[in-house]
Amino acid sequence: MAARKRSSGSLIEYKRKRDFTKTAEPAGTAGTRSKHTLRFVIQKHAASHLHFDFRLELDGVMKSWAVPKGPSYDPGTRRLAMQVEDHPIEYNTFEGTIPKGQYGGGTVMLWDRGTYEPEGGGGEDALRDGYERGDLKFIMHGKRMRGGWVLVRMRRDENGKAQWLLIKHRDDDADAEYDVVSDVMTSVTTGRTMEQITSGRSRVWNSNRESDDEPPAKKTARRKSAAKKTAAAPRKRSKSARPKSATKHSAKRGTRRGAKRGAKRGVKRGVKRGVKRGVKRAGRKV
Ligand code: MN
Repeated sequence: MAARKRSSGSLIEYKRKRDFTKTAEPAGTAGTRSKHTLRFVIQKHAASHLHFDFRLELDGVMKSWAVPKGPSYDPGTRRLAMQVEDHPIEYNTFEGTIPKGQYGGGTVMLWDRGTYEPEGGGGEDALRDGYERGDLKFIMHGKRMRGGWVLVRMRRDENGKAQWLLIKHRDDDADAEYDVVSDVMTSVTTGRTMEQITSGRSRVWNSNRESDDEPPAKKTARRKSAAKKTAAAPRKRSKSARPKSATKHSAKRGTRRGAKRGAKRGVKRGVKRGVKRGVKRAGRKV
């Protein structure tokens, strides 16, 4: 199949950078194209520098960008997105740790996932055109990422890698006051914090995939029950709950306000955030 050949060619750099006998990341076979919906995933990655890996499915692979500061719902904020190598679609379910010393060593959280579509219709062809033009407009249907966004290509660095900007469109989901990066501290699939993922023995695979230290059945069951828990206690951001007096222009103040709001609202979130913040605020009861 022509599509398959093209896709695996696109993963050459991904494979060259990794030793799959040492990391649990998927080796990646060529993906098959989705006929109907295209997937996206965002992984929070605490490597040498914390960043968010923003991945959009296109032509059987995940086009990938590293966004150091993560996405912003403020249409006036442009977030640098450095293009990195295409990733296999199997990477969309990866959460865990990459061993130290390996490429990208550190903790990976599934921060959001869902589907996306071109803003103006036209399916995958429209997305490919936008991608090649360096002006990719799309709608995201995720838990944390909603509405219209654009990736605009700026320039290429000395290695030929392109720098893009990730910008929120002005639509009903836009919100200059909402700091999603500081509000969302847990995995979209398992509800775990970065610390919990880092210390989670079951997800640390130093061996290759054929010799995982746990039978796959167990892992599936655990993942399912964790997902159920998350679904039972949906934590939605609600516009009405946000303070109206908030001023417009300070991202830093927005962060602090977001944290306070999180603690006030809902016991569950308060407790979870408390755990995460317990390190910094020793006096706080968690
Ligand atoms: Mn990364």
